Amino acid sequence: MQRDEPSGGSLYLVGTPIGHLGDLSPRARDLLRSVDVIACEDTRHSGQLLSSLGAGGRKLSFHQHNTRTRLPQLLDLLAEGQSLAVISDAGLPGISDPGEELVAAAHRAGHPVICIPGPCAATTALVSSGLPSSRFCFEGFLPAKGKERRARLEAISHEIRTTVLYEAPHRLITLLEELQHHCGGSRPLQVARELTKRHEEQVGPTVENALLHFRQRPPQGECTVVLGGAPLEEAVEPDDDDLLSQLQVLQDEGATASDAARQLAQATGLSRRRLYALLHQGTSN
Ligand code: SAM
Repeated sequence: MQRDEPSGGSLYLVGTPIGHLGDLSPRARDLLRSVDVIACEDTRHSGQLLSSLGAGGRKLSFHQHNTRTRLPQLLDLLAEGQSLAVISDAGLPGISDPGEELVAAAHRAGHPVICIPGPCAATTALVSSGLPSSRFCFEGFLPAKGKERRARLEAISHEIRTTVLYEAPHRLITLLEELQHHCGGSRPLQVARELTKRHEEQVGPTVENALLHFRQRPPQGECTVVLGGAPLEEAVEPDDDDLLSQLQVLQDEGATASDAARQLAQATGLSRRRLYALLHQGTSN
C-alpha cells in the first residue's frame, strides 16, 4: 500500500526520462501532477513534459548558477509545509545534476527526502556495456583541464573496477585520446550513445576501436563512456610508506592500532592483518 503522496514539507527527487518519454514512471507522473512546487534545472526545457502531464504546481528554476540564492528559498517552502519536487533536464537529479546540496540541506533541516527513482544514464550504460558491473566507479564529468584532469585520468588508469564517465559529444574524441594515452588502446571500453532513443548504439569494444569509429563518424547526441578496469597486474600495489602514513593519520584522529588497520582495510580492500603488521613493523624497510 503506497503512502499518500505528496506529503507537505517533503522533498521529492524525481527521475525523468533520458530520452524515451515512456520511461517516466506512473508514480513520478502522479507526483509531478500533484506536488505544490517543482524546482526544474531549466523551466523551459521541462515545460513541455510538465504541461503534457498537466502538472499545475509552481515552477521554479534551480541550477548550478542560482543554487546559492535559490536553496534557502526552497528550504523556506519546505518549512512552510509545501511539498517540493526537484527534476533535472533528464535522468536522476543529484547525479552530475543539481540536487545534492539541496538534499544535504533538507536532511540537516529535518525534512523527509524521498527519491522517486527513474532512468540514470550511468547505470543504464553500465548494465548494457557487457563490462563487469558487480563493482564499479562513477566519475561523472572529469575536471575540464590541467593538472586535476591528468591526475584523475592517471588514477582511473589504475582503477580495477569498471569506471563510468560522462562527456559532451564535442569533447568525446579528446577524452578517448586521453584514455588511450593513460590506459592503452586495447583497454575494454563501450560508448553508450543516445540511450533509450531511436538511434541508440554501443561503440567498442576497446578504446582504440571507439576512437577509430568516432574519428570517421563525429559523435553526436548524448554519450556515456564505460571503461573496463585495469588488469590486476597493472593495478598499482600500494606503497607501504604511504599506507603507514594513512594508518598514522587514523591513529592521530584517535583510532587504536587495530581500529586503524580495520578502517584502512575496509577502504583499500587490503588485508587487516597486513596493515596491522605494518603498523608494528613501523615501515617496510
Ligand atoms: N542526471 C543525469 C542522469 O541521471 O542520467 C545525468 C546528467 S549529466 C548533466 C548529462 C550527461 O549524462 C550527458 O553529458 C551524457 O554523458 C549522459 N547522458 C544523458 N542522457 C544520455 C543518453 N540518453 N545516452 C547516453 N548518455 C546520456
